[in-house]
Amino acid sequence: MSAIAMKKGIIFFIAAFLATCVPAKDAGVAPASGPDGLKAEMPDAGEGPGPTSPAAVEDIMNYLASDELKGRDTGSEGIELAAQYIEEYFQRHGIAPYYPGYRDTLSNFKKPAYNVVGWLEGNDPDLKGEYILLGAHYDHIGTIRPLNGDYIANGANDNASGTTAVMEIAKHFGRKKSNKRSLIFALFSGEERGLLGSKHMAKNMKASEVNLYTMLNFEMIGVPLRSKNYDLFVTGYYKSNLAEVSNKYAGENFIGYSATAREYNLFQRSDNYPFYQAFGIPSHTYCTFDFTNFAYYHKVDDEVAQLDLEHMARLINKMIPMVEGIANSPVQEVKMN
Ligand SMILES: [Zn+2]
Repeated sequence: MSAIAMKKGIIFFIAAFLATCVPAKDAGVAPASGPDGLKAEMPDAGEGPGPTSPAAVEDIMNYLASDELKGRDTGSEGIELAAQYIEEYFQRHGIAPYYPGYRDTLSNFKKPAYNVVGWLEGNDPDLKGEYILLGAHYDHIGTIRPLNGDYIANGANDNASGTTAVMEIAKHFGRKKSNKRSLIFALFSGEERGLLGSKHMAKNMKASEVNLYTMLNFEMIGVPLRSKNYDLFVTGYYKSNLAEVSNKYAGENFIGYSATAREYNLFQRSDNYPFYQAFGIPSHTYCTFDFTNFAYYHKVDDEVAQLDLEHMARLINKMIPMVEGIANSPVQEVKMN
């Protein structure tokens, strides 16, 4: 990894965990026809609306973190399979393509690489003009030095777990259409290569003057925090009142403050940051990895078997009313401090 890692073991985790940046080349303005893009097919009959389950989470996790996808390195065949899977999933659950298609080709990577982006128009004539972006990176680091013959970094926690949260939240709203503000669901590529996908998209959304209200990013939520009186922390806790508003709609102390996240400035090291830089809006990462509760970061053993799927389903089910509250409040409550 990097020289930084020599300084503090834990920094090694951080530096690897949240990729350092490579300046993104501007690829020009995103096609302005997102919202007028193709309308997706309606969900299958008989599949009820509503929250997720450990079984539904397991389905997605087992595919995204399977050996077949070979650790989903940016620009690889494995991540191409992941992209197709996410597109089909959005299609099946009533999430329309944000661009003419779901694919947003990165301008800042040497090989063809894609963010996969869908959206759901708000049901309120006024508030639908405001957008909330829910994001997570679906890429990982691919194959690495073998350990006991295993050379695939499956990236179950990093970040198939965050990807699953965005997909299951999208599924819920795709069926219920209970969101007054419009929701954009973005799965980023290139995060491990320097936040490339989110930088590319943030720049283009800014150029397209999208009326972005807030950005909610999900990263490494596969195992529960230990001995905390909250379930998730947000990075950049003091930058806005997102934690407070989130807890109001979660109806409990769901989101808390992490001294570790602050100490290592995680706010700047995940896909929320390019949107904060471009728009100056509340843009944070929700996470449950604090370097003490998961030993397989960027290792071949970051596998579904190491995760707690009940915990993940419980978290996602609590996130849904939280997102719904933020999407439906008559005025914008989430504000920068
Ligand atoms: Zn990650």
